[in-house]
Amino acid sequence: GGFQSMGLSYPVYKGVMKKGYKVPTPIQRKTVPVILDGKDIVAMARTGSGKTAAFLIPMFEKLKGPNAQTGARALILTPTRELALQTMKFTKEVPGLCTNPFLLDVFSMDDQFAALHENPDIIIGTPGRLMHVIQQMNLKLQSVEYVVFDEADRLFEMGFAEQLTEIIRRLPDNRQSLLFSATLPKLLVEFARAGLTEPVLIRL
Ligand code: AMP
Repeated sequence: GGFQSMGLSYPVYKGVMKKGYKVPTPIQRKTVPVILDGKDIVAMARTGSGKTAAFLIPMFEKLKGPNAQTGARALILTPTRELALQTMKFTKEVPGLCTNPFLLDVFSMDDQFAALHENPDIIIGTPGRLMHVIQQMNLKLQSVEYVVFDEADRLFEMGFAEQLTEIIRRLPDNRQSLLFSATLPKLLVEFARAGLTEPVLIRL
């Protein structure tokens, strides 16, 4: 199975080809069709496995559709600012698939406020920054359809458990949730049980 047999629409397929990805990595082969099918997933994947594209390619597919409401439609939570930055770069690098990502960062509040007023469709950052922006700018998450917990084991190691629970509470019930993690400690299994809906477990 290559990218052409995954059920991607032509614009997304073309974007992936232009990015230079000819063959899906094993994690992409296993996760992309399940995500496109609308399922929640828990995927065991390390950095270097191609996990970023595994959740961004289906996200591009999802964001092509009509947006009934204003507000961000995708939320990507990362353990560090560096990972958030890399992920944001990727969202801008797939030719023809323009998105308007918003990086949660330590900019001045004025800059963050201006960026939020441009109606970002994707919010990317750490749970700590997200809670800060929620509290300081009254950011709402009701329009989020697609949420990714990237490097989830590290999210917990960094001490974001409480913020993650707070964030999940603010998300709509009918969202799709994806959790990527190199390891699956008990704490994370419990988090997935509580925060995801009948997730499909994917391992290599
Ligand atoms: P990641 O595991 O998401 O950090 O990705 C590791 C590296 O693999 C990145 O440089 C990606 O651009 C690259 N990559 C991801 N998917 C593919 C693919 N299907 N073909 C070639 N390179 C890829």
